[in-house]
Amino acid sequence: MLDITKEKLRKAYKISEKIIDLYEKALEDIRDQFKYYDEIREYNQIKVLDALQKERISEAHFTNSSGYGYGDIGRDSLDKVYADVFNSESGLVRPHFVNGTHALCCAIFGNLRPGDTMLSVCGTPYDTLHNLIGIGTNKKNMGSLVEYGINYEQVNLTEDNRIDFESIEKHLKKNDSIKLVHIQRSTGYGWRKSLLVSEIKNIIDFVKKIRPNVICFVDNCYGEFIDTLEPTDVGADLAAGSLIKNIGGGIAPTGGYIVGKEEYVTQASYRLTVPGIGGECGSTFGVMRLLYEGLFLAPHISIEAVKSAIFCARIMELAGFEVLPKYNDKRSDIIQAIKFNDKSKLINFCRAIQKGSPVDSFVKCEPWDMPGYSDQVIMAAGAFVQGSSIELSADAPIREPYIGYLQGGLTFDHAKVGILVALSNIL
Ligand SMILES: *Cc1c(COP(=O)(O)O)cnc(C)c1O
Repeated sequence: MLDITKEKLRKAYKISEKIIDLYEKALEDIRDQFKYYDEIREYNQIKVLDALQKERISEAHFTNSSGYGYGDIGRDSLDKVYADVFNSESGLVRPHFVNGTHALCCAIFGNLRPGDTMLSVCGTPYDTLHNLIGIGTNKKNMGSLVEYGINYEQVNLTEDNRIDFESIEKHLKKNDSIKLVHIQRSTGYGWRKSLLVSEIKNIIDFVKKIRPNVICFVDNCYGEFIDTLEPTDVGADLAAGSLIKNIGGGIAPTGGYIVGKEEYVTQASYRLTVPGIGGECGSTFGVMRLLYEGLFLAPHISIEAVKSAIFCARIMELAGFEVLPKYNDKRSDIIQAIKFNDKSKLINFCRAIQKGSPVDSFVKCEPWDMPGYSDQVIMAAGAFVQGSSIELSADAPIREPYIGYLQGGLTFDHAKVGILVALSNIL
């Protein structure tokens, strides 16, 4: 670090000498991890470049469409580019998905019918899916799978957070109505490691051996480009995620995607719009260039975020906090969990991430009752795109043992500052 940088950190953010020492030690310790992820980034950059070239993307794809949006070549070609990147038959990439949950919802609802059962094999799914399934706080389960007569079963992780294959086998053999198996790659608000693509492959192989026709669906949120392979490379029939996380590259202003087997993606598109219309309508308001450019940048930006998480893991550990994953664990998403065991430390950590943000740095964030979540949630996100969590952000449900989740960082240099400020704020 340059002396003038240190001076600046000390003056602007009151970073102490002790924390600068921790910073230098942490950077030293994480060198090998950075090299490993640089190589993944390089491969994925070529993968995306290749897909764009194969589809012969040109300026014509960045134009606007209006009204019905028939024949929007930017939209239709981006579907194909995504399908290629994910090595799958079909893609559906739309600014019309209001968030990742919406894309997941279309994938799930589109492919299940009354009497069918969805089986989650990684324990309770991400919080915003609870009301979708009918296990949330929405008492009448309005609009949920359960209200439509679609059943839900769940296999919890074992005590040491492993996939419980024995129990999965029992469910699959006992219940013929299981039509879709839900696999969540990222941790969500849990204290477990993300599922590696190789582990997702093991689950899929296991499920398919017992019931070849079950749809293996992966919630791929936060996972894109952290490995050279994606779930659809290893047999997932369907996967979905958000464009304001990894794959939007920090550039996409909104949206979500679904990729997978053509039949299943079509069913999902009928849920998004109308049976028989699906992905063929939907004007794109001039955002297509941003979705393309975001995808192009995503391999790079996703690894900036991973580096930020690794740095956070190491420096927080050096400062005496328990973290998951550890700096030298293999990762499959961009999330870093830190256990605070203390409500005010957690809140102060999140507030400091806000303070170190490029946007809304002067805002003091507070826990609130967010739609879709059962506990109060605090969210620090001084982001250019509202709520974008590929940008440096920290959030947490306010419940014991007060675990905070840090993710994102469009540039590692910015994330470092945010994390140093956050650490200063709680030491
Ligand atoms: C972010 C996320 C979602 C979707 O959340 P949105 O805020 O609706 O985009 C779903 N599952 C997981 C695991 C996530 O991390």
